[in-house]
Amino acid sequence: METKKKYVRPIISKQQTGMMNKFGKAPLMTVMNSIDNVQVDAIVSKFGTPLFVISENRIRTIQKDALRVFSTRYPKVQFAWSYKTNYLDAVCSVFHQEKSWAEVVSEFEYDKAKRLGVAGKNIIFNGPDKSVEALKKAINDGANIHIDHYDELYRIVEISEAINRTARVALRINMDIGVYPKWDRFGFNYENGEALDAIKRIIISKNVKLVGLHTHIGTYMLSTNAYRIAASKMTSLYKNIKSEFELNLEYIDLGGGFASKNTLHAQYLDASGIVPTFEDYADAITAGIFEHNLKAHELPLLILETGRALVDEAGYLLARVIANKRLSNGRRAVVLDAGVNLLFTSFWYKHKISPTQFYGEYSEDSVVYGNLCMNIDVIRDGIQLPPIPVGDIVVIQNVGAYNMTQWMQFISLRPKVVMIMEDGALEVIRDNETLEYIAQLEKVPSKLKLKGY
Ligand SMILES: *Cc1c(COP(=O)(O)O)cnc(C)c1O
Repeated sequence: METKKKYVRPIISKQQTGMMNKFGKAPLMTVMNSIDNVQVDAIVSKFGTPLFVISENRIRTIQKDALRVFSTRYPKVQFAWSYKTNYLDAVCSVFHQEKSWAEVVSEFEYDKAKRLGVAGKNIIFNGPDKSVEALKKAINDGANIHIDHYDELYRIVEISEAINRTARVALRINMDIGVYPKWDRFGFNYENGEALDAIKRIIISKNVKLVGLHTHIGTYMLSTNAYRIAASKMTSLYKNIKSEFELNLEYIDLGGGFASKNTLHAQYLDASGIVPTFEDYADAITAGIFEHNLKAHELPLLILETGRALVDEAGYLLARVIANKRLSNGRRAVVLDAGVNLLFTSFWYKHKISPTQFYGEYSEDSVVYGNLCMNIDVIRDGIQLPPIPVGDIVVIQNVGAYNMTQWMQFISLRPKVVMIMEDGALEVIRDNETLEYIAQLEKVPSKLKLKGY
C-alpha cells in the first residue's frame, strides 16, 4: 500500500536580485572610472558632486546610427528632437547639427527652439495646450502645428482667417495598436471615424492646409508590432486622403516611444538584452508603410520624434557616498549626495550604478538612498554593491532623458551640467543654481520685512 504523502505548507520566498535565482543571474557589477576616456576623478575634482555629465560623442553616434538605420530602409526620413526629453540648449544644438528638427509640446519649448535659431518650418508644435498667442506665432512662422482636439482646430480656423495667413497643420491620431491601456487622450480617434471627420473639417477651410498625419503611440514601447500597426493605419489614412480628396500630404509622423537601454522596475533581466534595436523598429515601421504598395514617388516623408532612445545613454550623474548604514533588518543602505529631485527616472528605472574603482570581489544586496529628508527618496532598490567608503564616487548611468527637464528644485540647488566635447574638453552647459538665482523671483510684502529679528 502506498503511503500518503505528507502535506507540506507552501512557502513564498523572496527572489533576491543579484543572487542566482530561478530567473538566472542578474548582471554583474561593473567598474566605471572614465567617461569618453576622461577620468571621473578628474571631472569631479574640477566640478564637485553631484554633477550631470553629457557626452557629445554619444549623442552624435546614436543619432547618426538611428538616421542611418531608417534611411537605408526608407527614402525620406526626418528626425525631430523631442525637446521635453532634454531641452538644454547645448543638447538641442547637437541634435540640430545632426539635422534634426525641433519637436516641442508647449509655448515655452517653442520659444526655446526659436531662440536657438530653429526656423518655423523645422518646428513641430505638439501638445494639448497652445494659446491663441502661441498659435498666432506658429502660423506666422510657418511651423507645423499638430492639432490635438476640436477646440484647437476651431481656434486655428479662426486665427488663420483673422490674420489672413495659411496655417500648416497635421492631425494627431490615436488608434488601437494592440497595446493597452490605449493612449486615447491625445488627438483624434482612427477607428471610430473621428479623425476622418476632422480631416474633412480642415479640408473645407481655406486658410488651413493639412500637410501631415501624426501619432505618438506611447513611450518605452517594447512591441515593434505596435509600430507596424500604427505605420500601416497611418499609411492607409494617407492613401484614403489622396484618393478621396485628391490631397497629397507631405508627411506621416510616427512620434517617439522607442525604449532606451534602461531596465524597468518590473523587469528582472537587464533591458539591454530585450529592448528592440533601431533596426527592429525600422523594419516594423517600414513594413507597415510598404504593405500599402505606394509607388516610390508617392511615399510620404517619414518623421520620427524619438526622445529617450537617443539621449538616455549619453547622460551620467556623478554622486558621492555620504554615508553607509544598516537598516533594522540588517540590510545595507548607501546614502548619496543626489536625490530623486535630480533623478526623477529612478521612480520607473533600475538605474545602473557603478563604483569608480574595484573594491574586491565581495558585494552585498543594497538599497541606495538620496540626500532628501523623505522616505520616497530611493535611487535604487536591490543592487549588488561592494563596500564603498564615504567620500568615494559612483556613476549613475543612462540618465540623459527626462531628468534634466523634470528635475525639481527641492531643499537644495540644482547642480551643474557638464558636456564632454568630442575632443575631450569639459564645458559647463548649465551652471549650478545659487540662492540669489532662486530668490530673485521672490518678493516680501513690506509689512513682513524683518527688522533686526
Ligand atoms: C514625449 C514625446 C516624444 C518622445 O517620446 P520618447 O518616449 O522619449 O521617445 C515624442 N513625441 C511626442 C508627441 C511626445 O509627447
